[in-house]
Amino acid sequence: MRMAQRVAMCTAQRVGVPPSEHLTWAAMKAFQEAILAGAPGEEIAGIPLPESYRAAFVRRDEVDMFEGVESAAKDPRRSLHVEEVAVPELAPDEAYVAVMASAINFNTVWTSIFEPLPTFGFLDRFGKEGEWGARHALDYHVVGSDAAGVVVRVGSAVRNWKPGDKVTIHCNYVDDQDPSAHDDSMLAANQRIWGFESNFGGLADLTLVKANQLMPKPAHLSWEESAVNALCNSTAYRMLVSRNGAAMRQGDRVLVWGATGGLGGYAVQHVLNGGGIPVGVVSSPEKAELLHDLGVEAVIDRKAAGYRFWADEHTQDESEWRRLGKDIRALIGDDPDIVFEHPGRQTMGASVFVCKRGGSVVTCAATSGYMIEYDNRHLWMKLKTIKGSHFANYREAWDANRLICEGKVVPPLSAVYPLEDVGEATLQVHRNLHEGKIGVLCLAPGEGLGIDDPELRAKVGERRITVFRRHGA
Ligand code: NAP
Repeated sequence: MRMAQRVAMCTAQRVGVPPSEHLTWAAMKAFQEAILAGAPGEEIAGIPLPESYRAAFVRRDEVDMFEGVESAAKDPRRSLHVEEVAVPELAPDEAYVAVMASAINFNTVWTSIFEPLPTFGFLDRFGKEGEWGARHALDYHVVGSDAAGVVVRVGSAVRNWKPGDKVTIHCNYVDDQDPSAHDDSMLAANQRIWGFESNFGGLADLTLVKANQLMPKPAHLSWEESAVNALCNSTAYRMLVSRNGAAMRQGDRVLVWGATGGLGGYAVQHVLNGGGIPVGVVSSPEKAELLHDLGVEAVIDRKAAGYRFWADEHTQDESEWRRLGKDIRALIGDDPDIVFEHPGRQTMGASVFVCKRGGSVVTCAATSGYMIEYDNRHLWMKLKTIKGSHFANYREAWDANRLICEGKVVPPLSAVYPLEDVGEATLQVHRNLHEGKIGVLCLAPGEGLGIDDPELRAKVGERRITVFRRHGA
């Protein structure tokens, strides 16, 4: 029987079966116990793999479940299921990782509300790319684009990683046999985001990744603190620091929208580390206080300021852009050299306007709408640049991870949920009720486990490492 058929059959038998009714937990528990006991790699490599594992997924037969419902009212608790799925076959360049903890990213919000499109289209396209790609085109999509855990098996072509290695996982999924992947891998023709455009993501007890997604776990952080960083930290690093983004210089003034959000929580730290001057925009006095605690002096509370960049659905109000510009100058004495953009339609007109002559607006998203309007006269007459950016290549993700490993950037972890409550955790992000990042415990039986270097932790400082947690509690 062909491998793809075998997987499909296995899937049909497994999906929908509650985890407790399966022997599979015994197998996953053996991994959990070995990891918690600090077992050597050879022992972990000898633990038998189960046939199925616990995972969070959306179902193809439910993609229309929110028809006629407004975006904000779509509830991920209805669409995200936590049940058993079949363990997919391992390709030679891949690894299975026992996931101790994962995280919620905004892409899981998009997948769970089936916007702007159901992600099954990505999986079906992937399914046409040969036998290994066919594994991904299933009737369920296991989500999640961040994880920390332990390698339990590697494929025959994997050289740099072995069972027992403690890792975090970045989400750039590239085909290294494609020539277009060999300048900047984010330019690869078939570049994908793991757990969003591929199946078998990180919100699960086990995940399947390419070996070139693996990075060392920060030794001074717990599993959940380690799990939340790779996606947003790497994205913010490329946008601001990398020569593929704004190539920030010392002294640059940087306006950061959503400065205590997933991306913004890292962006402001990169600006401070690089000798820049951040202006953080947030939407409450509590978030403003959190930013001050992080070391950001210039903060704008957009709710208190009451900006109305859009006079109505079709018309923007330049006087409101001007008011934001004045507020920024009042705080830092100049216009921002760089604007860190992701809210999209609501803010892009203002971002282009307030950006300094010759400066750049770097954008990676459009949470409030992707059909953007700005006044082009302000762009060309003042020689500004709009730069598109998307996740990060392996090198950028590795360099960003090194900053976490050295304690130069701290995880903005504000809350932790068990995998069973992944729907609730996703709802928090969807409704913007959270700060920073939300962690999800998978095989880790509780918080605070997995810290191997308490000396470095003490040096970085417990207060600093837990700054978002204290404010989120
Ligand atoms: P997040 O944790 O929800 O943070 C975003 C923050 O933006 C919010 O906390 C909010 O902060 C602010 N915001 C939301 N709507 C706004 C509006 N209309 N005007 C001004 N500010 C607004 O999300 P995230 O993880 O930072 O991700 C943000 C976006 O980037 C998402 O769309 C996500 O899909 C995308 N993203 C893209 C990439 C990529 O590689 N392309 C990577 C990561 C994320 P306040 O309410 O405090 O102002």
